[in-house]
Amino acid sequence: MSTETFAKPLTVRAAQVTEPGGRFSVVERELPEPQPGHVRLTVEACGVCRSDAGFVNAGFPNVPFPLVTGHEIAGRVEALGDGVEGWDVGDRVAVGWFGGNCGTCLPCRQGDFIHCARMQVPGWAYPGGYAEGVVVPVSALARIPDEFSAAEAAPMGCAGVTTFNSLRHSAAGPGDLVAVLGLGGLGHLGVQFAGKLGFETVAVARGADKADAAKNFGAHHYIDSNAGDVAGRLQALGGAKVVLATAASSDAMSAAIDGLGNNGELIVLGATPEPIQVSPFQLISSSRTVHGHPSGTARDVEETLHFAALTGVRPLIETRPLDDVAAAYDRMMSGDARYRMVLTTGR
Ligand SMILES: [Zn+2]
Ligand SMILES: [Zn+2]
Repeated sequence: MSTETFAKPLTVRAAQVTEPGGRFSVVERELPEPQPGHVRLTVEACGVCRSDAGFVNAGFPNVPFPLVTGHEIAGRVEALGDGVEGWDVGDRVAVGWFGGNCGTCLPCRQGDFIHCARMQVPGWAYPGGYAEGVVVPVSALARIPDEFSAAEAAPMGCAGVTTFNSLRHSAAGPGDLVAVLGLGGLGHLGVQFAGKLGFETVAVARGADKADAAKNFGAHHYIDSNAGDVAGRLQALGGAKVVLATAASSDAMSAAIDGLGNNGELIVLGATPEPIQVSPFQLISSSRTVHGHPSGTARDVEETLHFAALTGVRPLIETRPLDDVAAAYDRMMSGDARYRMVLTTGR
C-alpha cells in the first residue's frame, strides 16, 4: 500500500562523478517515487569504501555515469512503494553492498542470495548513498539496533558484514588462532570481531606503531609485517586456522600462506587484480585452502549489527559532511583514515 501519492518530483543533494576518474561535485538530483517493492530512504550517513574507487574509476563493468556511488548507507524509511510489507515510514535501516537480489535466478532459487546472478549493488545498479536520499528494493534493508548511530551503523553494511560473516563461517572455533592481515577499514573491525568470537587473535600490519591500536581492538598478538617472516611468526604461535586477508595486497597474502596450520584457510577479502602466489606443495600436505568471501545479505548485515550491539564492536570513524566528499575520499585513498571515513548529510 502506498503511503505517498503526490507526483511532485523530489530533489536531493548528491555527490556525483560525471566521467571515469573524475572529481566529485555536489548537485541537485531528482529521486523517483519508489516503485512496487521499493522504499525511499532519507540517507543520514554513508561510509566511504575502497571499492568506491572501483566505481569512480570504472574498474567494474557497466558503471553508470554520471555516477552516485556509496554502498554503506544508513538512514530512515521515508516512503513505501506498493506491496511493501514489514517496513514502516521512520524505520531505521542500513543498506550495504548487498543492495537487493532478484529472487528468480538459480542461486536465488537455491537460497544462495549473496550469489544472485543479478545482485544489485547501490551505486552500480541504482544511484548510491553519497546523497541525501536513495530508492532501494526492500530485499536490501537491514534494521539498525538502537545502540547504533547512523554514522556507526553505515560501515557495517560492507566492512562490518564482510569481516563478521567470513569469520563466523570459517573453519575457526573458540580458542583457535586467527590472523587478520591489515588494520584499515575492514581490518580494525575484523580484529574486534575475531576477539569477540573467541579466537586467539593476531593483528598483522605494517609498522610497529600500530601495535597499541591493534591491542585496543582486542588483538592478543601483533605482528609488524615490515619486520618480515610473518609466516614464521604465525607458526611460532602454533599456526593459524584462519588468515583473514583484508589488506588489498597479494604479496602480503602470499607471504602469510605458510603461516597457516593444518586445514588452515586463507580467506581473501582485499580486492586487487594481482595474482596470489601459492605452490601445490604449500597446500597439499597441510590441507590448506585459499578462498574468497563476498559480503553478506541484508539479513547478514542485521546479524552483524546485532552481534556488534551485544559485544560492543564498533567501527572507529571519521565523519565529514557530504560537501566534503572529495576530501573524505582522498583521505580514504591515502590510507590515513582512522579507520573509516563516513559522510553525513545532516538529515
Ligand atoms: Zn565496500
Ligand atoms: Zn537472483
